[in-house]
Amino acid sequence: MATHTKPVLAANWKMHHGPTAAAEFLETFLGRHARRDDRTVILFPSAIAFTTARAAASARPDVRFGVQNIHPAEKGAFTGETSAPMAVDAGAAFVLVGHSERRHVFGETDAETAEKCARAAAHGLVPVLCVGEKIEEREAGETDAVVLRQLRAGLAGLGADDLRRVIIAYEPVWAIGTGRTATPDDASSAHAAIRAELRAIGGSETDEIPILYGGSVNVGNASTLLSAPGVDGLLVGGASLDPESWATICGA
Ligand code: PEP
Repeated sequence: MATHTKPVLAANWKMHHGPTAAAEFLETFLGRHARRDDRTVILFPSAIAFTTARAAASARPDVRFGVQNIHPAEKGAFTGETSAPMAVDAGAAFVLVGHSERRHVFGETDAETAEKCARAAAHGLVPVLCVGEKIEEREAGETDAVVLRQLRAGLAGLGADDLRRVIIAYEPVWAIGTGRTATPDDASSAHAAIRAELRAIGGSETDEIPILYGGSVNVGNASTLLSAPGVDGLLVGGASLDPESWATICGA
Protein backbone atom coordinates (compact mmCIF):
# COMPACT_ATOMS: atom_id res chain seq x y z
CA MET A 1 0.00 0.00 0.00
CA ALA A 2 1.10 3.55 -0.64
CA THR A 3 2.41 5.11 2.55
CA HIS A 4 -0.58 7.05 3.85
CA THR A 5 -3.55 6.26 1.66
CA LYS A 6 -6.68 4.63 3.04
CA PRO A 7 -7.99 1.63 1.09
CA VAL A 8 -10.37 2.71 -1.66
CA LEU A 9 -13.39 0.47 -2.27
CA ALA A 10 -15.16 1.42 -5.47
CA ALA A 11 -18.37 -0.05 -6.93
CA ASN A 12 -18.91 0.09 -10.70
CA TRP A 13 -22.58 -0.66 -11.30
CA LYS A 14 -22.18 -0.52 -15.09
CA MET A 15 -25.62 -0.58 -16.80
CA HIS A 16 -27.43 -1.95 -13.74
CA HIS A 17 -29.68 -0.38 -11.11
CA GLY A 18 -32.01 2.35 -12.33
CA PRO A 19 -33.22 5.00 -9.87
CA THR A 20 -35.66 2.72 -8.02
CA ALA A 21 -33.15 -0.10 -7.58
CA ALA A 22 -30.42 2.39 -6.64
CA ALA A 23 -32.54 3.86 -3.83
CA GLU A 24 -33.38 0.38 -2.54
CA PHE A 25 -29.72 -0.62 -2.72
CA LEU A 26 -28.65 2.37 -0.65
CA GLU A 27 -31.26 1.80 2.00
CA THR A 28 -29.98 -1.74 2.57
CA PHE A 29 -26.29 -0.96 2.09
CA LEU A 30 -26.23 2.03 4.47
CA GLY A 31 -28.00 -0.04 7.08
CA ARG A 32 -25.24 -2.64 6.91
CA HIS A 33 -22.20 -0.44 6.38
CA ALA A 34 -21.49 1.82 9.35
CA ARG A 35 -19.39 4.87 8.71
CA ARG A 36 -15.66 4.09 8.74
CA ASP A 37 -13.01 6.75 8.47
CA ASP A 38 -10.24 4.29 7.68
CA ARG A 39 -11.41 3.69 4.10
CA THR A 40 -12.89 5.50 1.14
CA VAL A 41 -16.08 4.06 -0.35
CA ILE A 42 -17.10 5.25 -3.82
CA LEU A 43 -20.19 4.30 -5.83
CA PHE A 44 -20.37 4.69 -9.61
CA PRO A 45 -24.09 4.47 -10.49
CA SER A 46 -25.44 4.83 -14.02
CA ALA A 47 -25.91 8.42 -15.18
CA ILE A 48 -29.67 8.11 -14.92
CA ALA A 49 -29.61 6.77 -11.35
CA PHE A 50 -26.85 9.09 -10.17
CA THR A 51 -28.96 11.84 -8.60
CA THR A 52 -31.34 9.43 -6.89
CA ALA A 53 -28.47 7.35 -5.52
CA ARG A 54 -26.66 10.38 -4.20
CA ALA A 55 -29.81 11.78 -2.59
CA ALA A 56 -30.42 8.43 -0.91
CA ALA A 57 -26.98 8.76 0.75
CA SER A 58 -27.29 12.47 1.61
CA ALA A 59 -26.96 11.74 5.34
CA ARG A 60 -23.75 9.77 4.70
CA PRO A 61 -21.00 12.02 3.34
CA ASP A 62 -18.55 9.18 3.95
CA VAL A 63 -20.02 7.46 0.86
CA ARG A 64 -18.65 9.23 -2.21
CA PHE A 65 -19.96 9.23 -5.76
CA GLY A 66 -18.55 9.17 -9.25
CA VAL A 67 -19.80 8.87 -12.81
CA GLN A 68 -18.91 6.01 -15.11
CA ASN A 69 -17.91 8.18 -18.06
CA ILE A 70 -17.66 11.74 -19.34
CA HIS A 71 -17.33 13.20 -22.80
CA PRO A 72 -13.98 14.91 -23.39
CA ALA A 73 -15.63 18.14 -24.62
CA GLU A 74 -16.81 20.87 -22.28
CA LYS A 75 -20.29 20.95 -23.84
CA GLY A 76 -21.95 20.71 -27.22
CA ALA A 77 -23.98 18.66 -29.66
CA PHE A 78 -23.12 15.21 -28.30
CA THR A 79 -26.45 13.47 -27.88
CA GLY A 80 -26.53 11.01 -25.03
CA GLU A 81 -23.30 12.15 -23.42
CA THR A 82 -22.47 13.67 -20.03
CA SER A 83 -19.93 16.48 -19.58
CA ALA A 84 -17.49 16.95 -16.71
CA PRO A 85 -19.22 20.14 -15.47
CA MET A 86 -22.58 18.33 -15.48
CA ALA A 87 -21.10 15.50 -13.42
CA VAL A 88 -19.69 17.98 -10.91
CA ASP A 89 -23.02 19.81 -10.77
CA ALA A 90 -24.74 16.50 -9.94
CA GLY A 91 -22.31 15.89 -7.07
CA ALA A 92 -19.74 13.58 -8.62
CA ALA A 93 -16.22 13.71 -7.24
CA PHE A 94 -14.76 10.91 -9.41
CA VAL A 95 -15.03 9.58 -12.94
CA LEU A 96 -14.01 6.25 -14.43
CA VAL A 97 -11.81 6.71 -17.50
CA GLY A 98 -10.61 3.99 -19.87
CA HIS A 99 -12.62 1.17 -18.31
CA SER A 100 -12.05 -1.96 -20.38
CA GLU A 101 -15.65 -1.89 -21.62
CA ARG A 102 -15.16 1.69 -22.83
CA ARG A 103 -11.92 0.67 -24.54
CA HIS A 104 -12.96 -2.65 -26.02
CA VAL A 105 -16.74 -2.33 -26.54
CA PHE A 106 -16.92 1.38 -27.40
CA GLY A 107 -13.47 1.80 -28.96
CA GLU A 108 -12.12 4.41 -26.55
CA THR A 109 -8.53 5.19 -27.50
CA ASP A 110 -5.54 6.10 -25.36
CA ALA A 111 -5.78 9.63 -26.77
CA GLU A 112 -9.41 9.90 -25.63
CA THR A 113 -8.52 8.68 -22.16
CA ALA A 114 -5.94 11.48 -21.98
CA GLU A 115 -8.51 14.07 -23.04
CA LYS A 116 -11.04 12.75 -20.53
CA CYS A 117 -8.52 12.75 -17.67
CA ALA A 118 -7.50 16.31 -18.51
CA ARG A 119 -11.10 17.52 -18.78
CA ALA A 120 -12.03 15.80 -15.52
CA ALA A 121 -9.08 17.31 -13.69
CA ALA A 122 -9.84 20.77 -15.06
CA HIS A 123 -13.19 20.55 -13.26
CA GLY A 124 -11.85 19.09 -10.04
CA LEU A 125 -13.11 15.57 -10.78
CA VAL A 126 -10.69 12.81 -9.83
CA PRO A 127 -10.09 10.51 -12.80
CA VAL A 128 -9.96 6.81 -11.97
CA LEU A 129 -7.82 5.69 -14.92
CA CYS A 130 -8.36 2.00 -15.68
CA VAL A 131 -5.61 0.02 -17.37
CA GLY A 132 -5.29 -3.66 -18.16
CA GLU A 133 -4.15 -6.22 -20.68
CA LYS A 134 -6.19 -8.65 -22.77
CA ILE A 135 -5.57 -12.38 -22.38
CA GLU A 136 -3.62 -12.63 -25.64
CA GLU A 137 -1.40 -9.76 -24.53
CA ARG A 138 -0.75 -11.48 -21.20
CA GLU A 139 0.08 -14.75 -22.95
CA ALA A 140 2.47 -12.92 -25.26
CA GLY A 141 4.30 -11.52 -22.21
CA GLU A 142 3.11 -7.99 -22.99
CA THR A 143 1.27 -7.23 -19.75
CA ASP A 144 3.60 -4.52 -18.48
CA ALA A 145 4.10 -2.98 -21.93
CA VAL A 146 0.34 -2.63 -22.50
CA VAL A 147 -0.50 -1.44 -19.00
CA LEU A 148 2.31 1.09 -18.87
CA ARG A 149 1.49 2.42 -22.34
CA GLN A 150 -2.12 2.98 -21.26
CA LEU A 151 -0.91 4.60 -18.05
CA ARG A 152 1.51 7.02 -19.71
CA ALA A 153 -0.96 7.91 -22.43
CA GLY A 154 -3.89 8.48 -20.10
CA LEU A 155 -1.93 10.74 -17.76
CA ALA A 156 -0.13 12.67 -20.52
CA GLY A 157 -2.29 15.79 -20.30
CA LEU A 158 -2.08 16.27 -16.54
CA GLY A 159 0.14 18.77 -14.75
CA ALA A 160 1.96 17.79 -11.56
CA ASP A 161 -0.83 18.89 -9.19
CA ASP A 162 -3.56 17.03 -11.07
CA LEU A 163 -1.35 13.96 -11.48
CA ARG A 164 -1.03 13.61 -7.72
CA ARG A 165 -4.83 13.48 -7.34
CA VAL A 166 -5.60 10.61 -9.75
CA ILE A 167 -6.51 7.03 -8.88
CA ILE A 168 -5.31 4.13 -11.02
CA ALA A 169 -7.21 0.84 -11.38
CA TYR A 170 -5.38 -2.21 -12.71
CA GLU A 171 -8.07 -4.36 -14.28
CA PRO A 172 -6.86 -7.25 -16.43
CA VAL A 173 -9.46 -7.56 -19.19
CA TRP A 174 -9.52 -11.36 -18.88
CA ALA A 175 -10.59 -11.05 -15.23
CA ILE A 176 -13.46 -8.60 -15.67
CA GLY A 177 -16.85 -10.23 -15.28
CA THR A 178 -15.38 -13.66 -16.02
CA GLY A 179 -15.08 -15.15 -12.54
CA ARG A 180 -11.35 -15.54 -13.25
CA THR A 181 -9.37 -13.46 -10.77
CA ALA A 182 -5.74 -12.44 -10.94
CA THR A 183 -3.69 -14.10 -8.23
CA PRO A 184 -2.44 -11.76 -5.51
CA ASP A 185 1.05 -12.22 -7.02
CA ASP A 186 -0.19 -11.23 -10.51
CA ALA A 187 -1.85 -8.16 -9.05
CA SER A 188 1.21 -7.22 -6.98
CA SER A 189 3.50 -7.59 -9.96
CA ALA A 190 1.38 -5.31 -12.17
CA HIS A 191 0.90 -2.84 -9.34
CA ALA A 192 4.66 -2.67 -8.75
CA ALA A 193 5.24 -1.92 -12.43
CA ILE A 194 2.57 0.80 -12.32
CA ARG A 195 4.03 2.29 -9.13
CA ALA A 196 7.51 2.42 -10.67
CA GLU A 197 6.15 4.07 -13.82
CA LEU A 198 4.24 6.66 -11.77
CA ARG A 199 7.51 7.51 -10.05
CA ALA A 200 9.23 7.80 -13.40
CA ILE A 201 6.48 10.15 -14.62
CA GLY A 202 6.00 12.30 -11.54
CA GLY A 203 8.60 11.42 -8.91
CA SER A 204 7.94 10.53 -5.29
CA GLU A 205 5.00 12.95 -5.19
CA THR A 206 3.01 10.22 -6.93
CA ASP A 207 3.58 7.77 -4.08
CA GLU A 208 0.19 8.52 -2.53
CA ILE A 209 -1.74 7.71 -5.72
CA PRO A 210 -3.93 4.69 -4.89
CA ILE A 211 -3.64 1.74 -7.27
CA LEU A 212 -6.78 -0.40 -7.15
CA TYR A 213 -7.21 -3.95 -8.38
CA GLY A 214 -10.35 -4.92 -10.30
CA GLY A 215 -11.51 -8.15 -11.94
CA SER A 216 -13.97 -10.67 -10.46
CA VAL A 217 -13.48 -9.47 -6.89
CA ASN A 218 -16.07 -11.06 -4.61
CA VAL A 219 -16.89 -11.56 -0.95
CA GLY A 220 -14.60 -14.59 -0.80
CA ASN A 221 -11.44 -13.08 -2.32
CA ALA A 222 -11.68 -9.37 -1.43
CA SER A 223 -9.62 -9.51 1.78
CA THR A 224 -6.85 -11.58 0.20
CA LEU A 225 -6.56 -9.29 -2.80
CA LEU A 226 -6.69 -6.19 -0.62
CA SER A 227 -3.83 -7.45 1.48
CA ALA A 228 -1.60 -8.22 -1.53
CA PRO A 229 1.50 -5.98 -1.54
CA GLY A 230 0.91 -2.84 -3.61
CA VAL A 231 -2.89 -3.20 -3.74
CA ASP A 232 -4.41 0.02 -2.33
CA GLY A 233 -8.05 -0.79 -2.97
CA LEU A 234 -10.57 -2.61 -5.13
CA LEU A 235 -12.78 -1.70 -8.08
CA VAL A 236 -15.71 -4.10 -8.09
CA GLY A 237 -18.36 -4.72 -10.73
CA GLY A 238 -20.70 -7.70 -10.35
CA ALA A 239 -20.23 -8.23 -6.61
CA SER A 240 -21.04 -4.57 -5.92
CA LEU A 241 -24.60 -4.94 -7.21
CA ASP A 242 -25.86 -6.74 -4.14
CA PRO A 243 -25.94 -4.38 -1.12
CA GLU A 244 -25.09 -7.10 1.39
CA SER A 245 -22.12 -8.38 -0.62
CA TRP A 246 -20.94 -4.85 -1.16
CA ALA A 247 -21.22 -4.07 2.57
CA THR A 248 -19.14 -7.17 3.32
CA ILE A 249 -16.49 -6.13 0.77
CA CYS A 250 -16.47 -2.61 2.24
CA GLY A 251 -15.62 -4.21 5.59
CA ALA A 252 -12.71 -6.20 4.09
C1 PEP B 1 -15.35 -3.71 -13.38
O1 PEP B 1 -16.35 -3.55 -14.08
O2 PEP B 1 -14.60 -2.76 -13.19
C2 PEP B 1 -15.12 -5.03 -12.80
C3 PEP B 1 -13.99 -5.24 -12.17
O3 PEP B 1 -16.11 -5.97 -12.96
P1 PEP B 1 -16.21 -7.41 -12.19
O4 PEP B 1 -15.92 -7.15 -10.74
O5 PEP B 1 -17.61 -7.85 -12.45
O6 PEP B 1 -15.18 -8.28 -12.81
